[in-house]
Amino acid sequence: MAVAEKRIFRIEIDERLCKGCSLCVDFCPTNVLTMDGNMVAVKELDACNGCQLCDNRCPDFAIQVFEE
Ligand code: SF4
Ligand code: SF4
Repeated sequence: MAVAEKRIFRIEIDERLCKGCSLCVDFCPTNVLTMDGNMVAVKELDACNGCQLCDNRCPDFAIQVFEE
């Protein structure tokens, strides 16, 4: 039996907490994130592999990744 499956992730950004340091952008291995002015933004959700690096490295607990 062949199985093809795609994991889907949801990224939540708390705009009250993000200070725009861009650490999460730098740590993301698949270029999911970008800066939009002084705030992080999701530019390529499909590329997210759920590694949680952004979530774990954000010093302000402003970004969270969940598996759908
Ligand atoms: S690491 Fe946190 S505070 Fe810094 S840009 Fe990313 S979400 Fe914002
Ligand atoms: S979970 Fe990993 S791949 Fe997804 S946005 Fe965060 S750092 Fe990038």
